Amino acid sequence: MRATKAIIHLENFKHNIKEIRRFTKPGVKMCVPVKADAYGHGSIECAKAALEAGVEFLAVAAVEEGVELREAGIKGRILLFSLASPEEIHDAVKADLTPFVFDEEYIDMFAKEALRQGKKSYPVHLAVDTGMGRIGCYAKDAASLARHIADTGILFHEGTMTHFATSDGKSQADCDYTKKQFEEFKSAIRGIEEAGLSAGICHCANSAATLDLPETHMGMVRPGIIVYGYDADEVNAQYLAKKGTPINLKPVMTLETEVCAIRPFKKGMSVGYGRTWIAEEDTDIALLPIGYGDGFLRRFAQNGIKVAINGKAYPVRGRICMDQCMVDIGKDNKEIQRWDKAVIFGCKEDGALQTADDIAKLTETISYEITTVLTRRVPREFCS
Ligand SMILES: *Cc1c(COP(=O)(O)O)cnc(C)c1O
Repeated sequence: MRATKAIIHLENFKHNIKEIRRFTKPGVKMCVPVKADAYGHGSIECAKAALEAGVEFLAVAAVEEGVELREAGIKGRILLFSLASPEEIHDAVKADLTPFVFDEEYIDMFAKEALRQGKKSYPVHLAVDTGMGRIGCYAKDAASLARHIADTGILFHEGTMTHFATSDGKSQADCDYTKKQFEEFKSAIRGIEEAGLSAGICHCANSAATLDLPETHMGMVRPGIIVYGYDADEVNAQYLAKKGTPINLKPVMTLETEVCAIRPFKKGMSVGYGRTWIAEEDTDIALLPIGYGDGFLRRFAQNGIKVAINGKAYPVRGRICMDQCMVDIGKDNKEIQRWDKAVIFGCKEDGALQTADDIAKLTETISYEITTVLTRRVPREFCS
């Protein structure tokens, strides 16, 4: 295996699921999204681990992601969070993916395909847009769409969902907006029930709402980022501890590489493309075989990212290349030898000095992006 790899701690993944379960009442189902290759962690292994940990639903965004899970022998229920295109509907139904629907045309496409494939009954979830501005119908149209689902005669209205836009923020405006969305969602559900239909399993809570807003749990929660061990923005570990509902999440991924060469540099010599860094004194530069081709993005270096080698942090110098980057370890560093491990982020136990959350803060993005952009070239090594 390549020295540059992502170690995936499935034991931490299962631990996080258990921790999150402490926040939900018995009977509340859990859906774990394994979209985008399980936020970069490896969807097949994470899906298996999630099912072992007892989650009731998995979720993907693309039909192909669902097909991949089925081909790997995964039998559990899978929700399809994004829309399938007309060419994909066949595969979606064949793979028994449960779509989010919200308009008559799309409902009819699934009904027709389910019929064609000889299904007796095919579950769908009605998506309501209460303010995310993404998928979903307006709350006022929920009842008539529920009627339309029932009228197909083959589709089964198994659930109703919405998605929060600001549940991970704690400003008054954010909290008010979430509350407004939740009220809107409840009005959609009431509309469906008043029409004499069932809204099925109602679900809206993402990571932040799962930990912070128990009243939004309803029939199911859909925590994503916290399952992978990262904070849901402002609903973070400190906030939850202060609130009196502490949680102990463990990062699932460690990204590591190794020192593949050490080269002495004289004062005045430059490092990398564009010569953006010039040695101000004699020093030694360690070469790491990781670059933006692995998902270690160029812009990380602009904000002075460091990597951990044998328990100490060392700065990346110059621009990050596609396949390599250069780290300043100082002159005659006795603590570092060629082939030593260098840890970019992850678990303390693996020698990391920062998490994906720390890198996200440093580079003004979110942990989701840090792990999700890791490319196929980075092998995932699973431990459980
Ligand atoms: C990705 C996603 C989630 C999980 O979101 P997190 O912020 O990772 O908890 C939940 N629901 C839907 C519809 C999603 O697309």
